[in-house]
Amino acid sequence: MLNIGCHLSVSKGFESMGKQAIELGGNTFQFFTRNPRGGKAKDIDAEDTQALLSLMKENNFAKILAHAPYTLNPCSKDERTREFAFETMSDDLKRMEYLPYNLYNFHPGSHVGQGVDAGIEMISSLLNTVLWEDMTTTVLLETMSGKGSEVGSKFTELREIIDNVQLKEKMGVCLDTCHVYDGGYDIKDNLEAVLEEFDKVIGIDRLKAIHINDSKNPFESHKDRHEKIGEGYIGIEAFERIVTHPVLKNLPFYLETPNELDGYAKEISLLKSF
Ligand code: FE
Ligand code: FE
Ligand code: ZN
Repeated sequence: MLNIGCHLSVSKGFESMGKQAIELGGNTFQFFTRNPRGGKAKDIDAEDTQALLSLMKENNFAKILAHAPYTLNPCSKDERTREFAFETMSDDLKRMEYLPYNLYNFHPGSHVGQGVDAGIEMISSLLNTVLWEDMTTTVLLETMSGKGSEVGSKFTELREIIDNVQLKEKMGVCLDTCHVYDGGYDIKDNLEAVLEEFDKVIGIDRLKAIHINDSKNPFESHKDRHEKIGEGYIGIEAFERIVTHPVLKNLPFYLETPNELDGYAKEISLLKSF
């Protein structure tokens, strides 16, 4: 069975997201740990997280994915922004222990002219500060489209970040289909070769989650504009190959397509039909 869900709003709480995921035909979901532009997170309601954990167990949920705010940039030029990245991630990861053994995803960052190597250095040093031995969450680097000065649009960059992290066993990668296609990995016409390269450079065992999005822009456009499944340049046949691929099919898939809830429900049912 396909493990699939979509991005949901955390505003009504955790158990409510679990129920919503089920209503949409899914068995997982993604949410922002706080406002995507940053800001303070709501206090954790332990009763609510417990209720979600029971619901997940009863309904055979796959791991859920918490997404860090977009404003988090560990390799900013600005010290205050780097501090915000530290404070946010450190707080998020502590809170994630209310939902143990799940996933936390972040955009590695934009080096804003300081160079990729400096960016990689700052990203791994943040991780070396916020990760701890007994944490249960797996922290995922998201594959990026290479817009502006984004770090992480090449598998080699992600590998270097992980290489510099001491607690490597806490680290994984979330592959975003729109981002990698925009970034120059041809998952449409050459999925096999992309997965082989991922395995060779990063190691396929590090692949823990898929963001499943079509792209509004052609191959290698470095744009990062998501499209509904089958309505963009990647196309429906490619998505059928992706969700049924033996290396991928047991991973959790999260939709981040431009949709309201009914649109997500349709995409979930379409992808499950393959
Ligand atoms: Fe993302
Ligand atoms: Fe994504
Ligand atoms: Zn994106």
